[in-house]
Amino acid sequence: MQYRRLMIKHILAFLLFQASSLSVHSAELPDLGAPDLIEYDQQTEEQLGRAFTTSLHTDYSLNYDPEVVSFVRKIGHKIASQTGNHRNFRFYVINNDSINAFAGPDGVIGIHTGLIQAVQSEDELASVIAHEIAHVTQRHLSRRYEYQSNQGNIASIATMLAAILIGMQDTNAGMAALMGGMGYNMEQQLKNSRMHESEADFKGIEFLQKANYDPYAMGQFFARLSKAGQNNSSSLPEILRSHPVTGHRLAEAENRAQTMPPLKAREPDNSLNLIKLRLNQANLQRDSHNLFFSENQSAAENCYQLNLINMNSPTNDEKMNKSRTCLWQLMKDNPQQILYSNLMMESIVKDQHKNKELLNRVLKYAEYQQALHPNDVSGLLRYADLLISLDKVELAQQTLESRNENQKYQYQVNQKLSEIYASQQKNAEAYYFQAVAQLNIGNTERSEYLLKKAEQNINGTNFILEHKIFIFSNKYANLLKKDTKRPEQ
Ligand SMILES: [Zn+2]
Repeated sequence: MQYRRLMIKHILAFLLFQASSLSVHSAELPDLGAPDLIEYDQQTEEQLGRAFTTSLHTDYSLNYDPEVVSFVRKIGHKIASQTGNHRNFRFYVINNDSINAFAGPDGVIGIHTGLIQAVQSEDELASVIAHEIAHVTQRHLSRRYEYQSNQGNIASIATMLAAILIGMQDTNAGMAALMGGMGYNMEQQLKNSRMHESEADFKGIEFLQKANYDPYAMGQFFARLSKAGQNNSSSLPEILRSHPVTGHRLAEAENRAQTMPPLKAREPDNSLNLIKLRLNQANLQRDSHNLFFSENQSAAENCYQLNLINMNSPTNDEKMNKSRTCLWQLMKDNPQQILYSNLMMESIVKDQHKNKELLNRVLKYAEYQQALHPNDVSGLLRYADLLISLDKVELAQQTLESRNENQKYQYQVNQKLSEIYASQQKNAEAYYFQAVAQLNIGNTERSEYLLKKAEQNINGTNFILEHKIFIFSNKYANLLKKDTKRPEQ
């Protein structure tokens, strides 16, 4: 992230300088001459992380496809769990065709859909994620400046950071203009960045191997991208702008991988290919093109794709039944592959003329799948939709609530709960679950507002909801400024 990191440093320094100069006497201005010697304090970094997450969710097109995000998060947390670092890692997928990934403040990592499309194996995707994770564990982004912080400043820094990291051309020009007056020793900064990149490769390859991914994948992926970029320099992948590939870098990656112990045997897994089919389908729907089958696809992938197409375009029952027959077989043969049963549930929920017999058969299978993958949010969300389409709304609510409690990512599940309650005209509950969803993406102000709305919308007595609000407000009292009053007994 060499070039961008450089800009981040300057913009952060600039913004923090501005922030400080507003609130402190000029004699107390922070020493901006030695930004690399000090780091953010933890509280500031957490604040930045929350504001950054809010900005991702409000200013950008995030991918909310349950299967896509679950797939990326599984890889991310598998690697993060091998770092020995207890930071609050979070992984988000950005709908952006450029081949890119980034590490933001406080362990927030972004993966562009373009990167997922560009990798040729799960190991290659894992290698880029491991590299970004290493930037976090080595604290490359953290710089502490002594300044008087307040929410407004933190939010504007986070917004800028998101704009730089996601790589908007226009913003970069703005950044360059802002940087102009900073007067840093650019070369020194650049050296530090190269050092950071090299360190992120070094540690990343170690994390990769520990998570049982191919340690050679990082070098291979960057080498292939670089080769493709040489043939067409006008369309240099975004990630190569921030991660220049040199012979030296590739040789170091190869040397590092050679020192790694061999991997354990792994079950074959076609998840990446199926996830790419999902992304393709979404892209084609957006651009209203026809989907084509690739010659290199396996029979399973052809079947998965056929079901995606039939689900998203009007088709006759005969065609639909035919495609579901092969999907059903795949489900029975591969119970560990949750993507098959998820697609069956998704397809049935979307079907206008539902077949009762099939619905009940899928429900039975889904219950078995839920027991098999209790922590998979994508399965939970598809299962809830299935229950709702069977008019088992209360069971859907209970399942979502009980399974969501200790999950790291609560945004989508709480959004769904809010929608369900809103459809029943239970506005107080709808506001409450929105408040929980907003807090999960760091939007504390919005959460406070929605919590107040929930309280205002309680008709008569609603002890259950009052109790929930009380528990929630107390649990997050340090983030939510509102007074927490015990509900009247
Ligand atoms: Zn990097």
